[in-house]
Amino acid sequence: MNAHSQVQNLLDFIDASPSPWHVVSSVEQELLAFGFVKLNEAEKWQLQLGGRYYVVRDGSSIISFVLGQKPLAETGFKIIGAHTDSPGLRIKPNAANGLEGSLRLAVEVYGGPILATFTDRDLSIAGRVSFKDTNNVTVNRLLKIDRPLLRLPNLAIHMNRTVNDEGLKLHKQNELPLILSVLAEDCLPQPFFTSLLQEQLGGDAERILSWDLAVYDTQKGTFWGADNEFYADSQLDNLASCHAALCALLDEAVLANENTLVCAFFDHEEIGSTSNKGADGGFLTDVLQRIALAYVTQGEDYSRALAHSFMISADMAHAYHPNFPLAYDPDHKVTMNNGPVIKVNANNRYSTESVSQAQFIGWCEQADVPYQKYSHRNDLACGSTIGPITSARLGISAVDVGNPLWAMHSIRESAGVQDHGYMIRVMKKFFGQFASLAIMN
Ligand code: ZN
Repeated sequence: MNAHSQVQNLLDFIDASPSPWHVVSSVEQELLAFGFVKLNEAEKWQLQLGGRYYVVRDGSSIISFVLGQKPLAETGFKIIGAHTDSPGLRIKPNAANGLEGSLRLAVEVYGGPILATFTDRDLSIAGRVSFKDTNNVTVNRLLKIDRPLLRLPNLAIHMNRTVNDEGLKLHKQNELPLILSVLAEDCLPQPFFTSLLQEQLGGDAERILSWDLAVYDTQKGTFWGADNEFYADSQLDNLASCHAALCALLDEAVLANENTLVCAFFDHEEIGSTSNKGADGGFLTDVLQRIALAYVTQGEDYSRALAHSFMISADMAHAYHPNFPLAYDPDHKVTMNNGPVIKVNANNRYSTESVSQAQFIGWCEQADVPYQKYSHRNDLACGSTIGPITSARLGISAVDVGNPLWAMHSIRESAGVQDHGYMIRVMKKFFGQFASLAIMN
């Protein structure tokens, strides 16, 4: 498959997945097509060597895995981690309010979005809703309203003369509510909004109980640039990494290597990962321990398996922006279409260390893929990923990598077409490694 078709698949995946709950649903569909079997955490698992499985926790984190035929205690887990959530706006519980002839929805800021990018976009909502159906049974269902429904219009420049000098500043309480409609005289805002949700959910939604609803941009992803060498969409951070990992896993040649492979995609990375389904919770540990039981491991075998394990923590990296040279360390500029970025931070904001870097470089070289190294400016606070958290919890070595991205946390991010295919190739090499990845001390 050429680079553009791989990215077109990614854009289709993102456009079908406007909330973390939809991301998990899209991942499930891909896994089912490859014969993966869904497991329920509350039931007894009967795992078979060679089997393909996945498990979902609370609808928005998903771990898929393949049990290799090789002895786990001697080969370990080969793990790729990424996150399903993106920063943005979430609909509050008592969201609808009427003000001066307008019906608006109140939102809460989720994580650290660039708020100004949410203005003047064709916004809508997606997520999950719980309701009582016509038989008084509680139902939890995904909801995605496909058409532009909401808007955050900018203030005209005539009332905001300094906007181009001072930037667009939005007061998080007063200036973020989204316009939904005009307010008719006899309209009660909250019932108006819940009946709109009921309509979208279908005839059986008798009474809405609660929701997790994200605001998303209905504009589809696109290629751009003189040679279509770039692409743009929402949520590239971090659905591009989830998609790359999934493409690497769902490859019959990779699966034939009989390694024990794991893709762990977590919600809540953008808000610190501490939750029952976040990377700082017990989800991955619980699943790995249950996988180990299938190998009739005894005593120290699980610890031995972890010592042979390795994780690629995949999350997007900051591509060099030529208009803002002072924002970057001049000796660590990473650029579009020049390969995956190895992220290094001495204070362990990234899990990378010299040995795990060297291993990743080895896979790049085997896959004939270029690579780049990134270090943040010392006078700017560095972001982090699930890498340090997960490798600390499991005690396994890891590397933080990701593809170059412009406008991280904008509602419309951009990346390079070649890099997506490069990342998939390296991840396939990693999954296909025959040897244990234990560090020889
Ligand atoms: Zn991210």
